[in-house]
Amino acid sequence: MHSKFKTIIEPFRIKMVEPIKMTTLSERKKYLEEAAYNLFQIRAENILIDLLTDSGTGAMSAAQWGKMMEGDESYAGCKSFYDMKDAVVDLTGYKHVFPTHQGRAAERILFSCIGGEGKIILNNTHFDTTRANVEYTKAEAIDLVIDEGRDPSSLHPFKGNMDLVKLENTLKQYAGSDRVQMCMMTITNNSGGGQPVSMQNIRETKAICQKYKIPFFLDACRFAENAYFIKQREDGFKNKAIKQIVQEMFSYADGCTMSAKKDAIVNMGGFLAFNDDNLAIGVQNMLILTEGFSTYGGLSGRDLAALAQGLKEVVDEDYLEYRIVSTQYLGNALIEMGVPVVRPIGGHAVYIDAKAMLPHISALQYPGQALACALYLEGGIRSVEIGSFMFGSYDKKTGAEIPSKMELVRLAIPRRVYTQSHIDFVIEVIAEVNKNKNALRGYKVVEQPPFLRHFSAKLKKL
Ligand SMILES: *Cc1c(COP(=O)(O)O)cnc(C)c1O
Repeated sequence: MHSKFKTIIEPFRIKMVEPIKMTTLSERKKYLEEAAYNLFQIRAENILIDLLTDSGTGAMSAAQWGKMMEGDESYAGCKSFYDMKDAVVDLTGYKHVFPTHQGRAAERILFSCIGGEGKIILNNTHFDTTRANVEYTKAEAIDLVIDEGRDPSSLHPFKGNMDLVKLENTLKQYAGSDRVQMCMMTITNNSGGGQPVSMQNIRETKAICQKYKIPFFLDACRFAENAYFIKQREDGFKNKAIKQIVQEMFSYADGCTMSAKKDAIVNMGGFLAFNDDNLAIGVQNMLILTEGFSTYGGLSGRDLAALAQGLKEVVDEDYLEYRIVSTQYLGNALIEMGVPVVRPIGGHAVYIDAKAMLPHISALQYPGQALACALYLEGGIRSVEIGSFMFGSYDKKTGAEIPSKMELVRLAIPRRVYTQSHIDFVIEVIAEVNKNKNALRGYKVVEQPPFLRHFSAKLKKL
């Protein structure tokens, strides 16, 4: 970043490699049929470039692997827990830190303590596991992102922002009813396109929550990427260190849930951290009941050690610059070839607007799924549909399926894993699919579970 050259380089070199396997078109056709057109059901060894998720798919650093060797595997009070707790407290300032095996475990424990029938949780946009864990307790999950956040073509710099008018109206509507248990803020807003939230919006959301005495938590999975966007785009932050920005973001919230598989750059881990002493009692009981003792929470000491190191590495500005610039490299190439994408390009992923790209496929025939299957078939690339298939919901009275607000296909970039030529290949494959897009057909769900259907549902080509 202090260079006079325009090429942003990977701020690391590669010292261990993992071969990836080429497959033929007829093999991929067979694998796709066997998976019932659900890409979660394909074996990873039959994928060439896996952009399914940036979750737990990052490459750990030499320092993280070194820390793993030092991991303290004591059942109670291991040193690795205290190292991890120190790293979390250093960034967040929160009093209680509970490790969990991943983000959704933190969510399940949190909502089992504060959720339940008649209760309401607010968010800019609930991530799929967050919504599912809220709804599993029979509580209601309400999304209050600004309108620009639902418009794939809007160039608003902070499309993850909470709509403060909708937030205040909602809190007013339920004031005195004891129903709204918490307001959350997902940074960056994953389901809304990996879009950041501004510091000002975090601050103002906090003020409204305080006025109505509602706890305010961050879903902090990509806190470092969010901080980088604040530094780039928001007045007054240009000369602040990323870590300082991160600390300010957390200072406005009362707690957070975290999937360490994202911005802690580990393959497994998460945590729940907050200040409320009363909540800590319930959380600790649930944690011990279902995850493990409170100083390991379902993780090995070595996992905690790597997590602590990852939290230090992720706030490095050279890393974040490389991270954000390489995601934009893919996004800008798609914009240039006329493929509609969510703009501005988010931090961890490029989202193709499948509704705009495939207008001949109706929402309830899952244009996103049609595109995702085509990318696999054409080039062995795995992406994920984030649209009516993922968020499949049904009208409680009529039973009719309700389409999602957007039909997106996410190309998530694993941290520190793929090189520029891998991404150049992805760009070529998308160009080819785009050329033949009018021949793509929609899909129909033929079998599905009651929650998070996109992981295991079976589909049929129409
Ligand atoms: C990944 C993610 C989660 C859930 O975390 P897991 O580690 O996958 O269980 C929750 N919220 C957001 C925004 C996420 O990106």
